[in-house]
Amino acid sequence: MFFRRGASSASKNGSQMVYALALAGCILLLGLILTAMWLRDRQNEQSALAEETALRVALDDELAAFGAQTQHYAGSLSAAAIGQRRAANGPIPAAGPTGAGYIVDLNADFTAPRADAALGAIGAVARATAVARPALRGPIDDNTLSTASGEWAAARTGTVFAAQRAWMVAIVKRQDDLALAVAHPLDNVALAKLARAAGIAQVDVMAASGIGERDTAVLLPAAAGEKPAALVWRAARPGDEMFGTAAAMLLSFAGLFVALIVVYSRRVTSDLIEAEARAHDAATQDPMTGLPNRIIFARLLENEIARVKRSTEERGLAVLFIDIDRFKEINDSFGHSGGDQLIVAFAQRLNALIRAGGRAARLSGDEFAVLQTDVVGPRDAEILARRIVETMAEPFEINGGQIFVSASIGVALCPHDANEPNELMRRADLALYRAKNEGRNRFCFFEPRMGEQLQMRKAVEDDLRQAIDTGALLVQYQPVMSIDGGKMLGVEALVRWPHPVHGLISPDSFIALAEECGLILPLGEWVLRRALRDVQRWPGLKVAVNVSAIQFRQKEFVPMVERLLAETGVDPTKLELELTESVLIADADGAENAIIDLRALGVRLALDDFGTGYSSLIYLRRFAFDKIKIDKSFLQSMETTGESAIIVHSIVHLGRALGLTVTAEGVETKDQHRFLQALGCHELQGYLFSQPVGADDIDRHLRQLQQPTAAPDEARSVA
Ligand code: C2E
Ligand code: MG
Ligand code: MG
Repeated sequence: MFFRRGASSASKNGSQMVYALALAGCILLLGLILTAMWLRDRQNEQSALAEETALRVALDDELAAFGAQTQHYAGSLSAAAIGQRRAANGPIPAAGPTGAGYIVDLNADFTAPRADAALGAIGAVARATAVARPALRGPIDDNTLSTASGEWAAARTGTVFAAQRAWMVAIVKRQDDLALAVAHPLDNVALAKLARAAGIAQVDVMAASGIGERDTAVLLPAAAGEKPAALVWRAARPGDEMFGTAAAMLLSFAGLFVALIVVYSRRVTSDLIEAEARAHDAATQDPMTGLPNRIIFARLLENEIARVKRSTEERGLAVLFIDIDRFKEINDSFGHSGGDQLIVAFAQRLNALIRAGGRAARLSGDEFAVLQTDVVGPRDAEILARRIVETMAEPFEINGGQIFVSASIGVALCPHDANEPNELMRRADLALYRAKNEGRNRFCFFEPRMGEQLQMRKAVEDDLRQAIDTGALLVQYQPVMSIDGGKMLGVEALVRWPHPVHGLISPDSFIALAEECGLILPLGEWVLRRALRDVQRWPGLKVAVNVSAIQFRQKEFVPMVERLLAETGVDPTKLELELTESVLIADADGAENAIIDLRALGVRLALDDFGTGYSSLIYLRRFAFDKIKIDKSFLQSMETTGESAIIVHSIVHLGRALGLTVTAEGVETKDQHRFLQALGCHELQGYLFSQPVGADDIDRHLRQLQQPTAAPDEARSVA
């Protein structure tokens, strides 16, 4: 559904773009066509004008030549011929250059006034050629050819239109009233000659009234009352030709443009669809695992809840929130690529487990969710949750090696716990929180009081953060005594939280919380700084500071120790860091490097709570500890079971054999003291000698020791 919506809006965008392009193309095309038409008309007009000019010139040339021939002929007329006219009554033919000439008497042969002599001459010509006279009234244009001196002069040439024919007329006047008038029809031959001279295909003569729209014409002069005539020709239209070529080009251009638009629109649309599909995938799918993301999971859940509500069957659904335990530590140890590999492998395993029974999703970082469908009762969800916990406990292959992780799961059921997506997810999250608090690697079902517990926890977390920020924590020191119990060799710094409401809170109650909510780093730094500042005042005493595994694994840990040593000016050999075996298990290589660096600084290292973890001999051999501290639990149970005594015995001997200092913690009784002394243990720590006390008490004790009158008892006990 989302994809279709994305695709249609993509194609809409695409087609909008194409429409814009097509519109731009059409406007351009229209512009080009209009320009071509304008150019066509202009070129046609210019060409017609040029043809007209050429025709006029050709006609003038022809008339001039005709006039010149007539003049020449007139000059050659014999006196006899002139005499004949005088003898005759009226015009007499004279075989002119065209054979249609007459010698006329300008005064006698015409009644017309002298000014119309030319007209009279034409009349004579016309009569001679049997053309009706009335049709011939009209002047020849006043084209005076020559005024050459001699007997014949003042020749005039021109055209007239009569009897549907145009004539070239030349009149050459003699000194007296006689003239030679010659007419020659503009017949086909003459018109062809004119056309040739003017560079025109064909010229016709016709009455001006018959000129068609497409014809080009040069009007011939007509006498008053006479119909005008014209030389008519079909003008060449080079513009049309140009336009034809341009049109062909424009058509090809338009075709190409359309093709381009089509190709482009397809590409744009498919690109857009692809881009939107990608954006859609990115928005709904987790790119690393390919699982649905939080958004799509919420939608799936919404749909499924709606289905459950509609359904008449007694089937519900379960939401499982799954978190990889201590993922941050894995990220720190194996780098982000290692963390990513784990996420992908985890997702694949989870997906394979779910198969048809629901959908898995990745909500964020190391947080996954499963929507289990067709759930009949809590048992179904329990079976799936158990299978997930078990499957994730199998080793994962990361960076070519195997690592073990675990998963915590919170389960909420619909409709039992909630029937609204957000509430159901919130409740699954609360249950997950509980699973983590109860020691991880397990699943928990939602219970109504979880919300309150969480709120309380959140309040505590806020308080602790504030206490660290304001330095409201307290460090107490428990003396570490020589084996005879007579000499304080050093102290162990133990943090406390003086809470305004709950009183002095022991570290066992808040160190884990500080680790979970990322407060252990500022807390650890604060304690170390405090301890180093205090030990500055205590010559001859060492100070032991506990280091949490999470804190130790930070890359900044060793530099931080170095910085604080420099800041306080404390001799590094006075500082002892207490680590537990959990530090070594998760990332042995990293721990080894850090230990080497710390030892290079001169800092001493103790393995705390020895005997409670793996107590592996390999660790003792591989990691260069200076000291092991026997966990107080062995001493506490020593009286009752002989086993503990054997273990303590073994640890002391093991430590001694490896050249390590052995310290026993939790020494409360004189019997324990004696026992440990007999075993050859090196140092002792416990309530028998002193409870953890404030720095002031240590100050006071040291002052008392300096006084020569100090009682022997005071030398032994601080508290
Ligand atoms: P731990 O390092 O093993 O510290 C010894 C614990 O045993 C202390 O508990 C101490 O008060 C208690 N103890 C000492 N002598 C006796 C005795 O004779 N009998 C009994 N029953 N207990 C005795 P505390 O102070 O409650 O600390 C608990 C744990 O909290 C410590 O165990 C240590 O792991 C952790 N811790 C304390 N301070 C810090 C700190 O600053 N940073 C970190 N990361 N952990 C700390
Ligand atoms: Mg300790
Ligand atoms: Mg301890």
